[in-house]
Amino acid sequence: MSYRAAVMTAPHEPIAIQSLPAPVLEPGAALLRVVYSEVCGTDVHLHHGRLAGVPYPIIPGHVSVGVIEEMAGPIHDVEGRAFQIGDRVTFLDVHETCGRCYHCLVTKQSTRCPHRRVYGITYSAHDGLLGGWAEALWMKPGVHMLRLPDELDAETFIGGGCGLVTGIHAVERAGIGLGDSVAVLGAGPVGQSIVALSALSGASRIIAVGDPASRLEFARRMGATDTLGLNVDPADRLHTVRDLTSGFGVDVVIEASGAPDAVPQALDLVRDGGRVVVCGHYTDNGDVRIHPHWQINRKHVELRGCWGSDFSHFHRALKVAAKHGQQVPWREMVSKTYSLDQANDALGAVARREVVKALIGPGGGAA
Ligand SMILES: [Zn+2]
Ligand SMILES: [Zn+2]
Repeated sequence: MSYRAAVMTAPHEPIAIQSLPAPVLEPGAALLRVVYSEVCGTDVHLHHGRLAGVPYPIIPGHVSVGVIEEMAGPIHDVEGRAFQIGDRVTFLDVHETCGRCYHCLVTKQSTRCPHRRVYGITYSAHDGLLGGWAEALWMKPGVHMLRLPDELDAETFIGGGCGLVTGIHAVERAGIGLGDSVAVLGAGPVGQSIVALSALSGASRIIAVGDPASRLEFARRMGATDTLGLNVDPADRLHTVRDLTSGFGVDVVIEASGAPDAVPQALDLVRDGGRVVVCGHYTDNGDVRIHPHWQINRKHVELRGCWGSDFSHFHRALKVAAKHGQQVPWREMVSKTYSLDQANDALGAVARREVVKALIGPGGGAA
């Protein structure tokens, strides 16, 4: 028995379809039939060779939804319920966080654990079906699966997908208070979810900054009260944000664009004593000048990074999508679903920003 997979053999090379053998399931392992796997901005970075230590060839796809087809022994979720054959599930892409290292045990920053492996990113295709752009996914023992609640359709969850999970972490780091004003820099999938989650967190004013205009329009549907395009000069953007906040600046700025310039801009837009979270710089996009006296020290600003996500963010993302998926149009972020054979087209469309989000649906995408 073998399964087809879309393999990224090396940076800049076209995606190739290969057949991989079915895994021999060890106790506690499972096999999923893939329903959807996301094409994320990270996959574009992977294809451009911009992440360190990636063991090409890889099967991309780190956020996926599948149906359990086979299990070796009973497997239970975090709430103690046994999984069944036929369950619709998703899983945390991060695996093998060690629980023994300095980062795990002392500083409790498990996203910095050097032993963690990530489906679709740090497993090689030589290791097996460990990425979502494939007909099947091998859930190794200990992978944290979660059942999709009945009221949550697969399209809504995967529409939020990676950006929703990242957004939960970023909004947690931002500590948004009821009535706060928030500026979100970047209108891609992460920024869109941050807009929605800021609204759910009780922000009274949410200013989305980004482009193109269609994404800003969508941000309004996600909960933005105001939008500012990148065609507006940065000085004018600052002026507008100050006007909207009685001259003070916003309480919180969350950077989700990956543009170096967005960081000094965030420091300008935030009010004195406010908070800035940087979560868009997942790859090295270069450096930038900031002015420590005027932008940080004198402003008494709190500046925080946000790296990766852990199981708590993933678990909460599922709850939030199930509760609010009818009101927040996550499922409409999916512009198009591609077959495995169209993986190159899907990746190209995301790279050229022709689509907000593309999915790979190896089985035709029926959930
Ligand atoms: Zn560790
Ligand atoms: Zn991602």
